[in-house]
Amino acid sequence: MPELPEVETVARALRPLEGARLTNFIVNDKKVWFESECEPEEFIGKNLTAIKRRGKYLIYDFGNLYILQHLRMTGKMLPDDSAIIPAKIRSTNSKQLRCEFRFDRGNYFFYDPRRFGTLTAVRDLAHYWKKKKIAPDPIEEESAAREHFMQAMGNTKRPAKASLLDQSIIAGVGNIYADEALFALGIHPLTISARIKKTAELFSLTRAILEKAIKARGTTVYNYVNPDGVAGSYALELKVYGRTGEPCPRCKTKKIQRLVITGRSSHFCAHCQKRS
Ligand SMILES: [Zn+2]
Repeated sequence: MPELPEVETVARALRPLEGARLTNFIVNDKKVWFESECEPEEFIGKNLTAIKRRGKYLIYDFGNLYILQHLRMTGKMLPDDSAIIPAKIRSTNSKQLRCEFRFDRGNYFFYDPRRFGTLTAVRDLAHYWKKKKIAPDPIEEESAAREHFMQAMGNTKRPAKASLLDQSIIAGVGNIYADEALFALGIHPLTISARIKKTAELFSLTRAILEKAIKARGTTVYNYVNPDGVAGSYALELKVYGRTGEPCPRCKTKKIQRLVITGRSSHFCAHCQKRS
């Protein structure tokens, strides 16, 4: 699933559409229109004033009316002539082409083979984030996100790994960057969140890793490709994620282990990340 850096990469690739008018909006898969406050037709004829992001959500700002997009497992925003879309899918008008945004500057498909992605029309963003308990964005709202993280971590006895994945504690972090952040600071993924002494450092380091990953245009795992067809290169920087059985890049003595925590694989070095 794309995490903050991958979603930010998508937002940047789509940003040339800012100021474009949505001339038509065709929903092929009704399931994509999820918990929305209005019908898709209400957006036709409106100007897309800005493309923003909070955590893993893409925000299409139509001026007091927003579409929030969650890409989930396989969602991609692609120009309608993209070679990534198989000819068979295109010719059969498949539900995998969840919807089509027709702008006066070009047409985009929300191509999503597994169909878990969603679009949600929202009028009041602040209310929505509160309702869904989405923490402030660690890149865009650094100080608010830091303050929120410090408080939320201090109040939970859950494992550090589970907390980093919790969007109500820090927005945008998923399995890859959570594992990398805990390794970078030498924190065992099962450490009780409230017992972590370096909570401020954990926030700063997680943020730094996210920023570095944004510069690399994200990670290419699970065949993730950006809307302009360019793959991210952060996979080359990964120290522990997906490296089970390989020697630890820090101590070079122990091997990276894999442990399932709250249903997700955690990758870590038992020597460098001691339980406290
Ligand atoms: Zn190690």
